[in-house]
Amino acid sequence: KESKRLSKVLAAAGVASRRSSEELIFEGKVTVNGSVCTSPQTRVDLSKDSIYVNGNRLSKRLPPKLHFALNKPKGYICSNGKEPKSVVSLFDDYWKSWNKTNPGIPRPRLFTAGRLDVATTGLIIVTNDGDFAQQISHPSSKFTKEYIATIEGTIHRRHLIAISEGTEVEGVHCVPDYVELLPAQPDVPRPRLRIVVHEGRNHEVRELIKNAGLQIHSLKRVRIGGFRLPSDLGLGKYTELKEADLKLLG
Ligand code: URA
Repeated sequence: KESKRLSKVLAAAGVASRRSSEELIFEGKVTVNGSVCTSPQTRVDLSKDSIYVNGNRLSKRLPPKLHFALNKPKGYICSNGKEPKSVVSLFDDYWKSWNKTNPGIPRPRLFTAGRLDVATTGLIIVTNDGDFAQQISHPSSKFTKEYIATIEGTIHRRHLIAISEGTEVEGVHCVPDYVELLPAQPDVPRPRLRIVVHEGRNHEVRELIKNAGLQIHSLKRVRIGGFRLPSDLGLGKYTELKEADLKLLG
């Protein structure tokens, strides 16, 4: 088997993120075949080399790559930390039977592919697959992301024009790919906009709407690339993505 960079192996093993794994290595917390190794670029072969992190032996087996679509509820943050209201905490029940069904296999360390604001609901991908997450969430990604924004007050033509013209976000002029006023529905009291963007910069959709002179009531993401949030997936619920789903995102 091919050897890989030590920092990449630690991240794939679920020890920590790539960056934090590099820090552990620089801090001298990692040994390879009995010697402290302080270079993240060192090539290692998990099946042959004996690797210890903070005195704990690294399993020879890598956790599987997992990919989930989560319907994020309001109030949860897209951090990878241990905060009680981190989206990753919504997976606590998933791990209850892990050791029974996956004996000897380390538990994957999940994180979100990109972020949604704390007040935003809807589709977010949660995974332990760093390359996949990067593909989806990088601002240069060609994937479009579709949002439904519920607005306080009345939407006029001038607002739609202003949104279409775009706005400055993080020093970049962002223009949405698509804006549409959704037809009024008897059971929905507020007007709604469908907005499609591809940059995915911080607060991009909120900035587009706010800078057009409108006030957001709520924001939900309903699609990334070719993958739409399943309509029967309740808030706080997740579903494991299948090969076919991954293709729609890949
Ligand atoms: N744009 C926003 O403004 N907020 C989000 O949560 C996602 C995209």
